[in-house]
Amino acid sequence: MRKMIVAGNWKMNTSVDEGIELIKQLKELISKHDTSAKEVITFPPFTHLWEFGKQLSESQIFLGAQNFCYEPKGAFTGEISATMLKSCGCNYVLIGHSERRQYFNESNELLAKKLNTAIENELLPIYCCGESLEEREAANHFKIIEKQINEGVFHLNENNFKKVVIAYEPIWAIGTGKTASPEQAQEIHNFIRSMIEKKYDKSIAENTSILYGGSVKASNAKEIFAKADIDGGLIGGASLKPEEFNNIINSI
Ligand code: PEP
Repeated sequence: MRKMIVAGNWKMNTSVDEGIELIKQLKELISKHDTSAKEVITFPPFTHLWEFGKQLSESQIFLGAQNFCYEPKGAFTGEISATMLKSCGCNYVLIGHSERRQYFNESNELLAKKLNTAIENELLPIYCCGESLEEREAANHFKIIEKQINEGVFHLNENNFKKVVIAYEPIWAIGTGKTASPEQAQEIHNFIRSMIEKKYDKSIAENTSILYGGSVKASNAKEIFAKADIDGGLIGGASLKPEEFNNIINSI
């Protein structure tokens, strides 16, 4: 059975003190209910990871990083390696978020290298894909997603692919308040699952978690997560509000 996941991407928000306060509130809220059937992950900024690693070590919340460098170590000023993330207690990494593709020119080729490094270092990758508004309006969205997955992920062998979580995040729905309709999201999730089945096999496709991201809120989460091929969400803005995020978690 595939994992149901709710992941919070804090992006470049909160000071360390604000972050500690926020994670304390979230821990408290989550401790009141049983989350054993789902995985909750938080992706704070790098500066928070060491402290969060300690704060979350005994909790039901997993820790992840928003980015890292594919090189193992050395003269790469300003970069953070996979082993550094592991030493802070990270279990997960985000790869290919649209903001990194868009503002930092991260290509599918670079993301494929990051995926290899994550897996070599036993960090579980959440690989993001998704089309822009122009690409959707030109009816190119299937092609774009196919290319992002073919070039970024499908070089992996079966064993390594099984460690990957995919997140479908239409760029036009991220931080805009516009959500893909549950039917639009389901259509793409189903398309991704059928690509996985063609490349690997049915059982691998059935066991791959595919998350939806793009303006998910407590008010729309239930409807989105109810779709057959949607296995949870990658949440940006709403993950910075503990009660709202907790309600999203409870929508699964
Ligand atoms: C994201 O950052 O991955 C995201 C989906 O953001 P938001 O929920 O704010 O649209």
